[in-house]
Amino acid sequence: MANDSMKIPQATAKRLPLYYRFLKNLHTSGKQRVSSAELSEAVKVDSATIRRDFSYFGALGKKGYGYNVNYLISFFRKTLDQDELTQVALIGVGNLGTAFLNYNFLKNNNTKIVCAFDVDPEKMGTMIREVPVYHLDELEKVLFDADIAVAILTVPAPAAQMITDRLVKADVKAILNFTPARLNVPPSIRVHHIDLAVELQSLIYFLKHYPTVEVEEEE
Ligand code: ATP
Repeated sequence: MANDSMKIPQATAKRLPLYYRFLKNLHTSGKQRVSSAELSEAVKVDSATIRRDFSYFGALGKKGYGYNVNYLISFFRKTLDQDELTQVALIGVGNLGTAFLNYNFLKNNNTKIVCAFDVDPEKMGTMIREVPVYHLDELEKVLFDADIAVAILTVPAPAAQMITDRLVKADVKAILNFTPARLNVPPSIRVHHIDLAVELQSLIYFLKHYPTVEVEEEE
């Protein structure tokens, strides 16, 4: 990311890809400008948050005009490094891992899983949607050769920390952790944790205890 984007708060940064995807659709359909109300409706973020987020990008919406779609798209492309392809490794070619390989973020032309690893001999040497599956023994070599800094972890929880330690040693800087394990990493490594079972439970809890949805202003 560009240095000046570092000043953007993390909660705002997390919404960037969402805004970007929607703005690209607007652009494709020929729209030149968009109001915060329209954006709010489409991405389900309240318009006060959108206005504050956009003020960090130097995009000040004009009353009665809204935001310039082209300006925002070029800002996002630069900030999100959209011009550069980020190659990603996936470890654990089980049900979830295989689903990611099949999906492979194809609508997102800047990120791509380019290699996968497993310990199951049956999976070794296979290709899933053109992505080769290697033995875990080859992890360091393949990551080093392809200069990969991002990994998705879809292994059983007990294997997660050991693999994480190897990823860190292999110079991986960011891990998307789909296992229930909480990972210990040095402060320079970024881990985003997505526990699908917990997310689903929390959704059901909210459904039961807070049946009406209130729009919350985020950080
Ligand atoms: P499946 O039904 O294919 O086993 P699953 O998602 O239910 O899928 P898990 O037990 O969660 O299976 O394992 C996910 C994948 O991680 C499997 O393909 C398994 O072979 C692989 N795996 C297990 N241990 C390791 C390890 N130490 N390193 C890499 N991959 C591993």
